[in-house]
Amino acid sequence: MDFKQYVTIVHDWPKPGIKFKDITTLMDNGEAYKAATDEIVKYAQEKQIDVVVGPEARGFIVGCPVAYSLGIGFAPVRKEGKLPREVIKVDYGLEYGKDVLTIHKDAIKPGQRVLITDDLLATGGTIEATIKLVEQLGGIVVGTAFLIELTYLDGRDKLEGYDVFTLMEY
Ligand code: AMP
Repeated sequence: MDFKQYVTIVHDWPKPGIKFKDITTLMDNGEAYKAATDEIVKYAQEKQIDVVVGPEARGFIVGCPVAYSLGIGFAPVRKEGKLPREVIKVDYGLEYGKDVLTIHKDAIKPGQRVLITDDLLATGGTIEATIKLVEQLGGIVVGTAFLIELTYLDGRDKLEGYDVFTLMEY
């Protein structure tokens, strides 16, 4: 399937110069959303995944149907102050300043094989931080999967040594 036809490119949003890749027009097409999910499920099936992990909010949109399809769990990574129980945290760099991501301390058991999902790989900062959280809990990151990769931002360089699967490249 030509997935790109379902992505809407919004120019100058949220800031001038950004070409925002809006995946809501892929999600609201049942056939395209299912086909994209199935591609990631196929990738995951080769890797014996125990749990899927994704950062808020679009990492949930990609990861939850994959976890459902595989019959395994999904663990959310969220901004600070959103998860109700004991968490571990990691700081990560944003374009302007810093932010914090968290995961429940008991979300992953040592040795579990983890697939990390998000909608889009840009600089790779979000996924790098998510990998740190998973590894701090003793999880093994056996793959990362995205709908979209912005190849000109070289996010893959930050993920050296990890397997990266993407459906579309810009
Ligand atoms: P990064 O940490 O730089 O890889 O940024 C990844 C996150 O920012 C992803 O979860 C995306 O949702 C969002 N993002 C960054 N750039 C874009 C873009 N051009 N279009 C849509 N989302 C973006």
